[in-house]
Amino acid sequence: MAYSYDSENIFAKILRGEIPNDTVLETEHSLAFRDIAPKAPTHILVIPKGAYVNFDHFAQTAPEAEIVDYIRAVGEVCRQAGVEDDGFRLISNAGRHGVQEVPHLHVHIVAGRPLGRMLA
Ligand code: 5GP
Repeated sequence: MAYSYDSENIFAKILRGEIPNDTVLETEHSLAFRDIAPKAPTHILVIPKGAYVNFDHFAQTAPEAEIVDYIRAVGEVCRQAGVEDDGFRLISNAGRHGVQEVPHLHVHIVAGRPLGRMLA
């Protein structure tokens, strides 16, 4: 599938410094910041700096160095946020059925309270 990237999406504006954010981690290829409308005590978004619409687009087209950086950034934020003891949930919504609001790849790290069964 060919993806087209909308460079006016909110996270592209955050990456360009046009909109402020509460950064928790920045690496060469990735940025992690707090969700503006947290659904749990810990709710952090991790995005690649490159222009990727979703996980499939990223996995198909990103250089390996960006993929490794991104996966490690997600893990590092989990560690820094101290969410490994009681657990956490990673979510990456894509497309219409996934109800993806912002068309730039992001993983939600959600933790800090019991989250219930997602697919019950
Ligand atoms: P999606 O439904 O695309 O997976 O989720 C997008 C997330 O981005 C939502 O949880 C929403 O609260 C968050 N969000 C939307 N606009 C902003 C913003 O301007 N700043 C931050 N930090 N988060 C945002």
